[in-house]
Amino acid sequence: MSEDKDRHILQFVPFLSTIESGFWTKLAEAKLNIFKLDDSRKVLNGFYTNSDTEGLPCRHSIDFGAFEMKNKAPPLCFSSHGGLHNKNTIEDFKSCDKKPILEEEAKLIWNAITSGEAILSPDLLVRFLLLSFADLKKYMFYYWFAFPAFVHSVPVTVCHSNLLSDVHNGKFMEALQNAVQLYRKENQFLPNFFIICSPTTLFGSCNSELTMTICKLKDFELLYQQGHKIIFAYCDPSTIPGYPGWPLRNYLSLIAYHWSAQLSQTVDIICYRDRPQDGKRNISHSLCFSLNVSTIKECPLNSTGWEKNKANKYGPRRVDLAEDMDPVKLAESSVNLNLKLMKWRLMPSLDLKKISSCKCLLLGAGTLGCNIARALLGWGVTNITLVDYGTVAFSNPVRQTLFEFSDCSTAGGKSKAPAAAERLKKIFPGVNAEGIELSIPMPGHPISDRAESVARVKKDVDRIENLVDSHDVIYLLMDTRESRWLPTLLATVKRKFVINVALGFDSYLVMRHGMNSHQNIPCSSSSESSDQESKLGCYFCNDVVAPGNSMKDRTLDQQCTVSRPGVSMIASALAVELMASILQHPHGPLALPNPGSLSDEASSCLGPVPHQIRGFLSHNQIFYPTTEAYGKCTGCSDFVVSAYKEKGFQFLLEPPANMWKAVILIGGPEKGTRFRPLSFDVPKPLFPVAGLPMIQHHIETCSKIDQIKEILLIGFYPKSEEIEKFIQSARKQYNSIIIRYLPEHTALGTAGGLYHYRDQIEAGSPTAFFVFNADVCCNLALKDIVEFHQETCAVGAITIVTTEAPHQESMSYGCVVENAETHEATHYVEKPETFVSSLINCGVYVFKPEVLNHLGNIFRKHQNERFIDMYDEDAAAEKISLEKEILVPYVSSGKMFVYKTTKPWSQIKSAASAIFANKLYLSNYHKTNSHRLARNAPNAGPLISGDVFIHETATVHSSAVLGPNVTIGEDVKIGPGVRVCNSIILPGAVIENHSCVLNAIIGWQSYVGEWSRVEGTAHQPNPNAPYAKMISGALFDEEGRLIPSITVLGKCK
Ligand SMILES: [Zn+2]
Repeated sequence: MSEDKDRHILQFVPFLSTIESGFWTKLAEAKLNIFKLDDSRKVLNGFYTNSDTEGLPCRHSIDFGAFEMKNKAPPLCFSSHGGLHNKNTIEDFKSCDKKPILEEEAKLIWNAITSGEAILSPDLLVRFLLLSFADLKKYMFYYWFAFPAFVHSVPVTVCHSNLLSDVHNGKFMEALQNAVQLYRKENQFLPNFFIICSPTTLFGSCNSELTMTICKLKDFELLYQQGHKIIFAYCDPSTIPGYPGWPLRNYLSLIAYHWSAQLSQTVDIICYRDRPQDGKRNISHSLCFSLNVSTIKECPLNSTGWEKNKANKYGPRRVDLAEDMDPVKLAESSVNLNLKLMKWRLMPSLDLKKISSCKCLLLGAGTLGCNIARALLGWGVTNITLVDYGTVAFSNPVRQTLFEFSDCSTAGGKSKAPAAAERLKKIFPGVNAEGIELSIPMPGHPISDRAESVARVKKDVDRIENLVDSHDVIYLLMDTRESRWLPTLLATVKRKFVINVALGFDSYLVMRHGMNSHQNIPCSSSSESSDQESKLGCYFCNDVVAPGNSMKDRTLDQQCTVSRPGVSMIASALAVELMASILQHPHGPLALPNPGSLSDEASSCLGPVPHQIRGFLSHNQIFYPTTEAYGKCTGCSDFVVSAYKEKGFQFLLEPPANMWKAVILIGGPEKGTRFRPLSFDVPKPLFPVAGLPMIQHHIETCSKIDQIKEILLIGFYPKSEEIEKFIQSARKQYNSIIIRYLPEHTALGTAGGLYHYRDQIEAGSPTAFFVFNADVCCNLALKDIVEFHQETCAVGAITIVTTEAPHQESMSYGCVVENAETHEATHYVEKPETFVSSLINCGVYVFKPEVLNHLGNIFRKHQNERFIDMYDEDAAAEKISLEKEILVPYVSSGKMFVYKTTKPWSQIKSAASAIFANKLYLSNYHKTNSHRLARNAPNAGPLISGDVFIHETATVHSSAVLGPNVTIGEDVKIGPGVRVCNSIILPGAVIENHSCVLNAIIGWQSYVGEWSRVEGTAHQPNPNAPYAKMISGALFDEEGRLIPSITVLGKCK
């Protein structure tokens, strides 16, 4: 290699600053706790290494130890010294005059050189300067490094440069490495700058045995005097072939200042680079230079060294450490990590985003609201809005987990919703929680006509509507049933996912509202929805009692504010988990529940997606009922949805429609004892009278009243095929009206069923409802009764239908005393021992819904009594007597009015009374359904005398004579010459030729042979006594003789 070719100007690789985040943490701490507003220069320590592999920048590092006075560089690294200028504001940082601070730092180097201090401690040659500003609100750091070095007045020229491995064979390098190793062994660490005492010059050759020694700079004079060959060396952070690192600049200044006189024109330099390779240390990439230092004699105080930024321009850098240092961000990432662990470790298919991105609206910030909000935080939900109108009471904090004693005050306490939102932010600052103080308008709480109050309510409705609009999941957690209505309706209109939670004393209900399949659901990933036509019910569709469980069940009282403390926590947790499961289901809120199945279809990765969860702490039971939407539901039916869409707010102002319902109390199998054996074969209410099941007569009468929209049958017959078949056929026949059977789980007395199913009765907010005993026969003018009730209902709550009875007979019934002028009932006695009144209770009533509240009070009273007498298992709190516990108290409060009917009326207690009822209903067909009455056809068919009903499927010989008062059932066969009078022939019976049936009921599939005579004793009210009633007395007289009556042939099996 020629000298000319290598003679060029030496260029140095500048340092690149690297800062470990630990330094910024220390800086933030020091700024807050030590420096505060002091922005004077602070001492720092840094380090660099000569072990980096080729291609890496020439790094200079500072880390968390930078502020420590006795900081030692990490192993195989070399110390540097610096000054920190941390400014208080970004303006100070920007406007800081950089020249003097760089000079100040350079001067420290110059002083160390001139004083000789740098010879003793050569690390003083490597200095740096850090100008910074720490924005501790945003965890943003602005900084600018400088590595001061002297500007040589004349550039240093290179005489020789090469890789060490190109100049020397392995022996040289091995000797050097051994020397370094020995030095390290004796002195612990290698200095940044040192000299190598060698038998040969760097670029010379030597054949003798090579032994090198590493010496300190301070040994120069001695070695020089002894005539040793001296090579200057330093640990070089640069990794670039041909270019030495920044530390060489100041090193050359030192060498020039102190020793240029002794040295010939050139000095030998080794840029010692030492990296591990294949398990060994390798120094072959070190550089060798022969440099001319004669030009560096006088070093002017002219320094350089500001670092370029990422854009390769002279300017500051910025680092954003919010993710690492901001406790809020730290909490966020920790929460997310926690959730992700669940996904990574247990459920790879879990889509956390679907849950955490949900915006949740919590209507109610009480026990449920607080607990649900906390559970939502756990799932990483960050958008939570709470709505409540109340303030924190002293009793709240122990149960309502977002409140503290300090939130209460004798002056009224903090407003719940904002206080809860505030606390959520304290628990997790990353949450976007809002608390809105707002009362939810309730239907049935009349809005005053005054324009300002209408405007105020409209404002509230608008706010709620906006809230429902802007959230994905709506939680209904209010205390009252009414306040759930508007949000239910709005959520249905807006097609939002609703979760409803209600608590009882020791029971809870968690349910999701159904959604129509054509709804656009944000959370559902799948556009293909289930084909299922049926829609799940909403809170207002559903009864709030568990179906079909033991008599120990207590009903769920939604108004109940006193519940066992754990109930709310259990229900809240279940509600949030239900939401999570449903959001994971491919069909989202459209997912069909199938609690029994764990197939993929029926569950999400988190498990099943039930419609409702009803739990009972009293006996540790949980049920998962599914109920369909109710077509006339006030919360979710198409009717209300389209009405609201059409009329908007105006719809809410309209007075509730005058809608009525009817309840038919059908009793149960243990009743109807006097109706045996007929009641063994068919539930008594379905016993056919005048061709129709007994209760169908009531249904038919009701179906003619426009206001009546629903008929509920309540009783404790188990749901059977017969009942089901009857309901189906009645629904078909009277399709303008909804007909449902609500079975009691046990005999609840005459009124317990009304209480048990009060939510079903109240659904749709009826004005009033009829109550019929199934076993009465009457042709009441219901229209008149509706009118009568409306006239009296301003004061009254109950209309009782009565009829006249003879004095003696009246005592077998409930007797009502009436104020003849006002029709107010003034006295009521059930089966009095002496005469009270000739007005008797017909077993037909009209109740206003407020009667159900009264039943609630009775229920609670019973429960208290039961609590006192806890061993009395039979005393079901729900068992309520209509006569004693409704009529008697109401009559004494003056809220019962008497409607008197003059129409024929009878109870159906016995076979004989069935025959009498048959007669009454048949004769009524003249007015209502004359097509049902058989007629004599000219020259054909049987001879009909009086009122006769013949089922279309029956065959009656043309020579038979039927009537009066005869019903021929389905598939009955009547032979030639048969005579039937005052009788009911039940389906499937056969009456053979020439038989005679009088005053009898012929059972199902019975066979009456030829020439037989079946004759009972006619039994009916005394036709000469006005208002006389059927007496359904005992079957036997006092002497044990059968009292003659209607003959009954039982079912033939
Ligand atoms: Zn509904």
